[in-house]
Amino acid sequence: MTEAERRAALGAIAQEVAVCTRCRLHQTRTRAVPGEGHPETEVVFVGEGPGFNEDRQGRPFVGQAGAKLDALLTSVDWQRDEVFITNVVKCRPPENRDPEPDEIAACAPFLTRQLEALDPALVVTLGRFSMARFSPGARIGQVHGTYRPADTASGAPEALAYAMYHPAAALHQGSLNEALFRDMLGVPEALVAARMRRTAAATPLDRAAVEAPAEEVGAEPPALVEVADPAPAALQVPEADPAAEPASPLASEAETRPAAQLPLF
Ligand code: URA
Repeated sequence: MTEAERRAALGAIAQEVAVCTRCRLHQTRTRAVPGEGHPETEVVFVGEGPGFNEDRQGRPFVGQAGAKLDALLTSVDWQRDEVFITNVVKCRPPENRDPEPDEIAACAPFLTRQLEALDPALVVTLGRFSMARFSPGARIGQVHGTYRPADTASGAPEALAYAMYHPAAALHQGSLNEALFRDMLGVPEALVAARMRRTAAATPLDRAAVEAPAEEVGAEPPALVEVADPAPAALQVPEADPAAEPASPLASEAETRPAAQLPLF
């Protein structure tokens, strides 16, 4: 898909979300919150559902949890307009209660279609409702800070899913704040692994690299292999300065750069 096609697909979904009446949440919403971000990003963050401020503004993660998410992104030198941010349910559950299973099911096709349009390498799940969608059966206390192949029915069958606590959890439970920021440092590293997995999947000779290490929960990113990178030029890690010390033939920029400083664009 071209960038224009992705934009058009995401815009069409947002228009449908804005007038959706598929579940009871439409009765109490002020505005639906489809999600927002860069259509060409490799990384999608998926939260639970809009809160008070999101419901007023029609934008995801703009309240206190949003400030925490911004801080988490800043901690790895990323900005929110370089990723895509959305939620499992697009309308606010009254009093910020948990979304009900039938509400999640009614909203699921929107998230699936967003992911099909974005085709991300990495989905970062924020909280247990989001995690359940990409890593069914996992327990957040055990898998936070690790990644695994995203559930094939999620709309992102070629993505890795990286589990994190919900940013709002850190607002109520101070001990989770440290875990959140520590886990965030692993996100760029997971993206490196996700890129390699996709590259290997697109390169027949490297199928072994796809099938082995990335299947393990929390596996270390597999060793870099020298293969052609299928990512569009704008998404590739910038070329090293030709005037600088030449890198060894096997050392790509992605290898030599600390994972926590991995530019998205
Ligand atoms: N919490 C969420 O899960 N999503 C938002 O958009 C805001 C708060």
